[in-house]
Amino acid sequence: MRIEASTRDEPAACPGCEVSARRVHSRYERRLSDTEITGREVVIRLRVRRLFCDNNACSRRTFAEALPALAARHARRTTTLQRLQCAVALAPGGRAGARLTRHPAVRRLVFDPLTAT
Ligand SMILES: [Zn+2]
Repeated sequence: MRIEASTRDEPAACPGCEVSARRVHSRYERRLSDTEITGREVVIRLRVRRLFCDNNACSRRTFAEALPALAARHARRTTTLQRLQCAVALAPGGRAGARLTRHPAVRRLVFDPLTAT
């Protein structure tokens, strides 16, 4: 299942100086794996902005808007999926965890969520 989304055209704080910016440099797409919906794998195609920082005292010229509630910077999966995968990988521990990760669906979920079909 694919979800296409984009961020709102609201000001975003520069991570370097925290001054609010709204002048758009460019847009690009991030692909994020998310938790399943009704048993189907979910990929979010999220269009995000790169903004200019107009603060002359700041060393950054541009920055990508952050979405900390959804995913960490450069992450390829949502924070929710990351927490779920960590719970699956760590909770059973030892041999039980090793057996669990041999199951194809769990292997895809834990090790390679974006290439799963
Ligand atoms: Zn700045």
